[in-house]
Amino acid sequence: MNHIAILGSTGSIGTQALEVIRHLPERSRVTVLTAHTQIDLLERQMREFEPLAVAVTDPEAAARLRARYAGPVRIFSGARALCEAAVLPETDTVLTAVSGAVGIEPTLAAIAAGKTIALANKETLVAAGDLVTARAAEAGVRILPVDSEHSAIFQCLEGRGPAAAERLILTASGGPFRGYAKSQLAEVTVADCLRHPTWNMGRKITIDSATLFNKGLEVIEAHHLFGMDYDAIRVTVHPQSIVHSMVELRDGAVLAQLGVPDMKLPIQLAFTYPERLPVPEERLNWAETLDLHFEPPATDVFRSLPLAYAAGKVGKSAPLALNAANEVAVAAFCDGAIGFLAIFAVVENVLAAHQPAELRDWADIVAADTAARARAKEEVRRLQKLRV
Ligand code: NDP
Ligand code: MG
Repeated sequence: MNHIAILGSTGSIGTQALEVIRHLPERSRVTVLTAHTQIDLLERQMREFEPLAVAVTDPEAAARLRARYAGPVRIFSGARALCEAAVLPETDTVLTAVSGAVGIEPTLAAIAAGKTIALANKETLVAAGDLVTARAAEAGVRILPVDSEHSAIFQCLEGRGPAAAERLILTASGGPFRGYAKSQLAEVTVADCLRHPTWNMGRKITIDSATLFNKGLEVIEAHHLFGMDYDAIRVTVHPQSIVHSMVELRDGAVLAQLGVPDMKLPIQLAFTYPERLPVPEERLNWAETLDLHFEPPATDVFRSLPLAYAAGKVGKSAPLALNAANEVAVAAFCDGAIGFLAIFAVVENVLAAHQPAELRDWADIVAADTAARARAKEEVRRLQKLRV
């Protein structure tokens, strides 16, 4: 029996994780659920899955839940709610499926408490990859990837280890604006971004998929998960999202993991690893023609990729600054403060001004993250005045 805490249970990954658990009643039990704002959904999840504790991070939502809930489930709220929820002694595995850098602190807390980490929250590894992987190694804790590309690579490397690989090839759908010229991107709206061709995901990652910052973040995530140099990590655009990623071995053989675009397989594998159990989902239909297309990314238009490689190679706090600036820029774009192309400009300008510093502990992370966000907000205000 795997006792699972789901951080971010009301989100896209969180709700799919609960679907997986619903189909594995003999194998898994939910210990913790967490929400930020969606307490109606959280309450329904509490009734069905009967967790030991929940955490609600938005103060107003937490107050509302406390006012109307009188059952036995413990409710954590306040600034450390996710951390308290992440370390419950009854939990074996913590799925980090909150969105953004808020995932870092509870992931570190879960690692210190010896929990297995099923990692969906890529921002954690992007911003604090050296510290998180070092702490996991010290604690003897496994980080199992949930992100579909990294799960694919993990599956291709199974039984071999990263030393057998010469290159990792991450696939990208290309998002809704594949083939667009820069001039066409100037006018795109939030609604245009949310029409993702192949994946149905939360808002922030969907915008990241439209800018290709998602793939940039995933390059940094792959560097930390598999210990590969940045020059050995490639990105190819594959609009069908059938090949989830590939590994090129030392002898030139390329191994790939294929499947329908559905997150339940990587989520379930992280819960049952090393066992593989049936996933009640549609399969690829080999009775039909299947065209698989691959093309190089347009890095002159989608500057997110070169920016992510550059920040990754600088290391220290540079990837954290890239992530923080991107989070601020995406929020400003969603609020209508800046245009789509300004997202690239905010990140680029924050990185250009950033002084990379070592991230030795949580205090270093907070200091660097606060400074990068403040700088990014200044940049948003400047670009807003210029109407970019
Ligand atoms: P969603 O936006 O759908 O869900 C985010 C979850 O985090 C919700 O439960 C939300 O609560 C909660 N949350 C939001 N803000 C905060 C906060 N400030 N503090 C605490 N909790 C918060 O995101 P996704 O499920 O799409 O993505 C989650 C993570 O998984 C991201 O890091 C993403 O990059 C990664 N990922 C997602 C994939 C996908 O297919 N969706 C694929 C691969 C990786 P509430 O809704 O109650 O407000
Ligand atoms: Mg992914």
